[in-house]
Amino acid sequence: MSEETHDQPRKMRGATAHPHLRTGRSLWADSPGLSLPSKRLSQPLDVDVVVIGAGISGAFMAYDLSHDFHVAVLECNAPLLGSTIASTAMLQWELDSPALALAEQIGLADASRVYQRSRRVVNDLIDIVRLERIACRLTPKASLYLAGDAYGARALKSEAKLRTNIGLDSVFLRKDELRERFAIERSGAILSQGSASADPAQLAAGLLRRAIKRGAHLFAPEEVTGIMQGGDHVTLVNGSGFEVRARHIVFCCGYAFPKGVPTNRAKIISTWALASKPIGDMPEWLSKHLLWEASDPYLYVRTTTDGRIIMGGEDEASADRQSDPIILKEKGRTLTRKLKVLLPNIHFEIDYAWAGAFGHSTTSMPLIGAIPDMPNCHAVMGLGGNGITFSALASQIVGATVRGRRDPDADLFAFT
Ligand SMILES: Cc1cc2nc3c(=O)[nH]c(=O)nc-3n(C[C@H](O)[C@H](O)[C@H](O)COP(=O)(O)OP(=O)(O)OC[C@H]3O[C@@H](n4cnc5c(N)ncnc54)[C@H](O)[C@@H]3O)c2cc1C
Repeated sequence: MSEETHDQPRKMRGATAHPHLRTGRSLWADSPGLSLPSKRLSQPLDVDVVVIGAGISGAFMAYDLSHDFHVAVLECNAPLLGSTIASTAMLQWELDSPALALAEQIGLADASRVYQRSRRVVNDLIDIVRLERIACRLTPKASLYLAGDAYGARALKSEAKLRTNIGLDSVFLRKDELRERFAIERSGAILSQGSASADPAQLAAGLLRRAIKRGAHLFAPEEVTGIMQGGDHVTLVNGSGFEVRARHIVFCCGYAFPKGVPTNRAKIISTWALASKPIGDMPEWLSKHLLWEASDPYLYVRTTTDGRIIMGGEDEASADRQSDPIILKEKGRTLTRKLKVLLPNIHFEIDYAWAGAFGHSTTSMPLIGAIPDMPNCHAVMGLGGNGITFSALASQIVGATVRGRRDPDADLFAFT
């Protein structure tokens, strides 16, 4: 490595990295099948692509790229223990921002493309799980989006109409229909098809295992602290003492935003989640639907295949609040109280309670693609409540670029 071909190393860790990403114990920490064959770097490495981060984004990325390239994944902790293990894994195509609200921000044509693409990505994700027979308790579900204090029944009716016009599977339910079909007291709701739920840690582990089977290598713990750019390659700065070179690198670092990657005013906030003990008399409809509300802060509810309820929400703008165990208890009480109002016949007994950092953007859209002024470097920032859908989307967009093609929707999610 000569000084003529490389700039000074560009440090990655910096002002936006956040040390505490998760508090409490998530349900998925006890999932079976999470062990992965990782190793330490013991010699120099020269590969086509280095993926930095072994969470769900790195897993989808490594899975996709290992079909055609020699891939190495570098993870600074144990794999899967970032926000992926905290995720409640509602696999949705509906963004946190309704299509109508998004249209006001980015225009109707682009908002429609975002929603249509997101819908296709959830289908693709389900297809991959089935094709690869990944045991991650994937369960296809409908989604019920309840009117709340942010969007009332009239707004949801307009939203459902727009979605129908752009070919999406959503219908508006009036107050009486909602009561009759679901015994829920709200002024209206949108019922949509085509979502799912899963175990996010098992999903990520399964994808990484398929990538490793195709020749990818997983190195952990190996922290990347900087990069140096050469003509047609990138060299990674890491503590191992061995040189790691790649034609492309992809930052899949979750909410530890690497320094130098533009975040377009994304913020790290705090969010909370609970899982109940298995519930004997779960209403059948609830195990087939994801439930969430158009409120701020919002409550969302899903079930697991072993009869638990997972719920979450109560987001707060501060990044640090999620690391406070006293607030975790308070949030547990608040979420349980809210569920009692929504579903009075459910007895929710807390078995797991956890909190996590969460990336929020004003549009609820992710940032994905080539990093400006950093040739051969790409990044994935799955901001908003659809992080896992966006991880799958990111592997399609970055996968196309690395293969020398352009994804037709890359412009929508690009860093500016
Ligand atoms: C409580 C909660 C509930 C959520 N619910 C949902 C939901 O229902 N549906 C949904 O789609 N999304 C949800 N999300 C969001 C979703 O979980 C995230 O978008 C997703 O997990 C992000 O995955 P990731 O792989 O990008 O990040 P992570 O899982 O955080 O992985 C990033 C990895 O990069 C590693 N890393 C960072 N820096 C370096 C470095 N310099 N060198 C080497 N390794 C590094 C980290 O150690 C980490 O393992 C939720 C999030 C939370 C916290």
